[in-house]
Amino acid sequence: MRATREKILEEAAILRSRFPDAKCTINFKNRFELLVCTVLSAQTTDKRVNMVSPSLFAAFSGPKEMAKAPLEEIENIIKPLGMYKSKAKSIQTLSKQLEGFGWQVPGSMQELVKLRGVGRKTANVVLTEGFSVPGFPVDTHVTRVTSRLRWHSEWNDPHPDPAVIEKELCSIFPPESWRTVSCTLIEFGREICHAKNPDCASCPLKDLCPFVKRG
Ligand code: SF4
Repeated sequence: MRATREKILEEAAILRSRFPDAKCTINFKNRFELLVCTVLSAQTTDKRVNMVSPSLFAAFSGPKEMAKAPLEEIENIIKPLGMYKSKAKSIQTLSKQLEGFGWQVPGSMQELVKLRGVGRKTANVVLTEGFSVPGFPVDTHVTRVTSRLRWHSEWNDPHPDPAVIEKELCSIFPPESWRTVSCTLIEFGREICHAKNPDCASCPLKDLCPFVKRG
């Protein structure tokens, strides 16, 4: 059975007290850099993105420059991130698409998800960090942790729909806390509730979690 609203709020508060400083760790100077770095962060860490992004933006400082850049040059810079061919294609194509927005990053979910490589998770990061519009990014950590804790109705599905998770969590938490809760879950997933071998022994939710009891 799905966790009750009260239990979810209680567990979220416990996690926040364990990770009080959890926040976005992508380094960026403007919305374009934020958008590109968030696309690049797929399947890797913000830390790794932060290592290559200064070189990338030194070479191609904005969407006009990135749109005209030789693809191989972008690929060479972002190679350490993995999936560099598809990521290079995405950031070059989305840069070209930004011409239709006056070379600016658009500020709505509807427009952002039209850009290549941008799904709801990336769009929510850009909206919250770049436009101060409340959003609840649901990444792989949020999906895994909230399934184990049964915070959403698709907890028993091996491939729950992130859009459903986002919608249900947004109905539980107030908009001003969406980003904080998301960041806290991401940090918790990275540090303790790992995909393989979660560190249940040191988990602050070990007495509340149905996954550990079952396992
Ligand atoms: S008890 Fe284990 S599985 Fe449950 S939330 Fe904590 S780390 Fe994850």
